[in-house]
Amino acid sequence: MRIDIVTIFPEMFEGVVGTSIIGRARTQHAVEINLIDFRDYSTNKHNTVDDTPYGGGGGMVLKPEPIFSAVESLVQEGKRPRVILTCPQGEVYSQSKALELAQEEHLIIVSGHYEGYDERIRQHLITDEISIGDYVLTGGELPAMVIVDSIVRLLPGVLGNDTSAVLDSFREPLLEYPHYTRPAEFRGWKVPDILLSGHHGNIEIWRRKESLRRTLLRRPDLMERLELSEQDHKLLAEIKREEGLK
Ligand code: SAM
Repeated sequence: MRIDIVTIFPEMFEGVVGTSIIGRARTQHAVEINLIDFRDYSTNKHNTVDDTPYGGGGGMVLKPEPIFSAVESLVQEGKRPRVILTCPQGEVYSQSKALELAQEEHLIIVSGHYEGYDERIRQHLITDEISIGDYVLTGGELPAMVIVDSIVRLLPGVLGNDTSAVLDSFREPLLEYPHYTRPAEFRGWKVPDILLSGHHGNIEIWRRKESLRRTLLRRPDLMERLELSEQDHKLLAEIKREEGLK
């Protein structure tokens, strides 16, 4: 997969795309990540990329020409890559969107700044608008990093253990079960006996039950989208009894 990030602050990305799992994925050629400074595509003599809004008001607006030129220079002939705009007004990002984007060969992510974008960028250049949540950041750099991180870890071979991504919270609309590691007892707090039993069947059932418990208690909204097996119904009945729920 190739990901091009179009930004006026490429230096902000260096740590994230060069470190840990993403850095390794790049070295191993599981993903190619390019940082493109759209200021380089400005044609005026001061290299400006923003201007005051028509109609007055505060804040600066990103001009269309540099962003159009930067994005168009990245599109290979005959191809139509997804062009993603980071934007608090966009579709709220989710694991299912990450899974969808991870299937693509080429993504271009446009990371904004200042008050916003000239509307023609939104209307005529981009294919997806993504918000990472209902709050406003100073720029689209952090959202672009969030999107890249969530996608790269889903690419084949990137996580050492390919089951990790499969078991993550939200792959199914279910939160992940609790994890424990050594020591078996820490400050008097013990690891549940079942995890030390070596009985894999019972451990699987315990994990499923604890996933259901977490989801029911923390994110009951997700339960509505969950397809429950007969065993899940039994486990949920036990959980509700244990938690004093109806
Ligand atoms: N005035 C804009 C509005 O109300 O929609 C907010 C502009 S914000 C200060 C500057 C840039 O940060 C946005 O253009 C976008 O690229 C990015 N940004 C801010 N919050 C975001 C969020 N929650 N998700 C994605 N991008 C965001």
